[in-house]
Amino acid sequence: MPPAIESSHIFLYVTEKCNLACRYCYFRDKRNRSLSLETIRGFIFFLEKEGMKPRRFILSGGEPLLVWPLTKKVISFLKTAVPKAEIGLQTNGLLLDAPKIAFLKTNKVNLEIGLDGLPATTSAWRRGTTNASFAHLVEMLLLCRLAGLAVNCNMTVHPQEMPRFRHNFLFLAQLPFGKIDVTPAAFAAWDQAGRRTFKQDYAWIAKKYHAKIYAGDARRFSPQGAWDLSLHPHGYLLPGDAFLCLPEKLKQEFSLIQFSPQPRLNTKTLAMLKQLYQRFGRKEKKQTYRDYIVSSFKIVNDLTGKTGIDWKTFEELFDFMTRVNRQDPSETKKGQTNDGRIGE
Ligand code: SF4
Repeated sequence: MPPAIESSHIFLYVTEKCNLACRYCYFRDKRNRSLSLETIRGFIFFLEKEGMKPRRFILSGGEPLLVWPLTKKVISFLKTAVPKAEIGLQTNGLLLDAPKIAFLKTNKVNLEIGLDGLPATTSAWRRGTTNASFAHLVEMLLLCRLAGLAVNCNMTVHPQEMPRFRHNFLFLAQLPFGKIDVTPAAFAAWDQAGRRTFKQDYAWIAKKYHAKIYAGDARRFSPQGAWDLSLHPHGYLLPGDAFLCLPEKLKQEFSLIQFSPQPRLNTKTLAMLKQLYQRFGRKEKKQTYRDYIVSSFKIVNDLTGKTGIDWKTFEELFDFMTRVNRQDPSETKKGQTNDGRIGE
């Protein structure tokens, strides 16, 4: 019998280091750590042992291109260890160049580039970007598309940018991105008026530019029913996974697109998922949703809770991830530098 829960996608935050200092940065407590290849190997072997086969890995940071030797090794390892899984890379794109693009193309890595709209908006919030770097980014974006790489955009919207939200989106929609994943800035002060305008403008955009909007992964919300451990609210499709960083109350308020009128999981199962989610350290002071490894699961064939779910496996998995996420730089092993490079 197939497992009751499948891992749908896994984020690997390869490094906390970054060449930008965005004003809305999701990392509240950057410690400049990087994952080690050994940890990722251990994680993949753990998944294998438990019979889990994630469909997708997303490498993120920090800026994964800043630790390119490590990121390359991780990609090469994933290609060998889980050849059927898709690999995505989230980046601010400033360190992209032709050799990196060629490597990503060879390894069929999809890109997600962070860009917030017109140059003035982008440079106001993504501290460290300049007109020159913006031009470089657009050039690299075109190179990626010429190379046949799929490139999506991660657009973060700050409440102060609400008057320009539509313009910024329309600007991005003209660039050769496949999809645009719109996320409200997580730790900004959103007042009621700001949230209302966001919803109105987002609904307008979603209607006019449906093909351009990345509205979560619809496959995870199949009509047969599926639920994600990342706890998307009942019956709603969120604009993107980065919504996970919002406090629960705010997340509910931003949910926009009703997908299914009824929750399909029984409350006991949902309560267990919530409990696991909280154990994963979300409530710890110094952690944000951008832990080292974040996994997202869906329940594929046990919507009623009758079949029984092997919670033990998931508890072990969460414990494994929590241990990694709590890892202190001082705990790095011999032969491995603090920035996560593996000693040769
Ligand atoms: S690019 Fe990402 S990790 Fe870097 S400062 Fe900006 S939000 Fe933070």
